[in-house]
Amino acid sequence: MRRKEWLGLAPFGYQNNPLIRNIEPHPTEARIVKLAFEEYAKGVHSFVSLAQFLADLGVVSKNRMPLAKASIKRLLTNRAYLGFLKHKGEWFDGNFEPILSPALFEAVQKILKTKERPRHRRARHDFPFTGLFRCAECGSMISAQWAVNRWGTKYRYYRCSKKRGRCPQPYIQEAELARQIKARLQTISLCDNLTDWMLEKVKSWEHEEIGASQSEVQNLSENIKTAEARMEKLVSTYLDGDIPKQTYLKKKDEILLASAVLEQRKKDFENGRKNWVEPLREWILDTKQADFLSTSNDFHQIKTFVQKIGTNPRVRNKSAVFDFCPASQFAAKRRGILRSAAASRPRGATLSNREVSIGGGGEIRTHDALSDILAFQASALGRYATPPIDWII
Ligand SMILES: [Zn+2]
Repeated sequence: MRRKEWLGLAPFGYQNNPLIRNIEPHPTEARIVKLAFEEYAKGVHSFVSLAQFLADLGVVSKNRMPLAKASIKRLLTNRAYLGFLKHKGEWFDGNFEPILSPALFEAVQKILKTKERPRHRRARHDFPFTGLFRCAECGSMISAQWAVNRWGTKYRYYRCSKKRGRCPQPYIQEAELARQIKARLQTISLCDNLTDWMLEKVKSWEHEEIGASQSEVQNLSENIKTAEARMEKLVSTYLDGDIPKQTYLKKKDEILLASAVLEQRKKDFENGRKNWVEPLREWILDTKQADFLSTSNDFHQIKTFVQKIGTNPRVRNKSAVFDFCPASQFAAKRRGILRSAAASRPRGATLSNREVSIGGGGEIRTHDALSDILAFQASALGRYATPPIDWII
């Protein structure tokens, strides 16, 4: 027997009601859905402008941006708003209240159809690594082309676009380019065991620091209060005529200055944490991502990632290179040392407690985990901000 209740999470516009074990229109969101359909039915909106219209009503994505075009399209074609239920890819009549009239829904579908542009007959080019590298010799962008080898196999290759005049640089095949990029990512990648451990460590530091700064902030607040009380007492003493004006003014200035210093220190404490926790966490997640992508074949994703973390990507003599932020350079350097240290270890040698293997495949060994982390932290900071104190490297 097919159920007529909506079992999953309610789509936008509806809410789950556990009492009836079904969904029902959400009082505000359902009105927004209807408004969105009415707006779009006017025929003047693009997906982007409708996303903006919705954003103005507070409907945004998780990262507080207007909804993506794909989400808008999903919304405008969601038959749940007609009271339908999807089961194994097919729509059925559900027993929950529709949000839209069939006429309004159809009007929108009609507009969607007219806006669907006929696809170009010509095959769309898909060159994932274009717009990423420059030619190291002449500085032109590297562009891509299809080629057919003598056995009739089609392949993509990349070469200097020669926009700045003649350039003798050779081409490079996409497979080879991808191999080099992945190898480069491999050098800064750290395995999940290590990154997860680092993320945990950052979390605990964050907690420590929140704790420490909270007690410090509390301390400062108390001092500020004391200063205020002193000020009040000073004013009343002066008003009582117990101290001369000159003394009063001098005292007042002292207290005001002290208060300002305390206020500033309090503010610094409250802002301080943001300056290093988030960049460090982001960097750790980047190295995790590098690890994942170094074995991935999603070239588009790899390109986006290189654009994010790599600097100065260039190609010379069939070699693709890009640089990393100081933290990742450090990781790459340290990784090399650790690997060779591990390689030179005699067979069967046991590790001391301070040499616990925390890397994948026994490849990465660390001699002192905490000092490594601090060093990572220090170099991570180098990318984003001036370190607040003297770090260990
Ligand atoms: Zn060139």
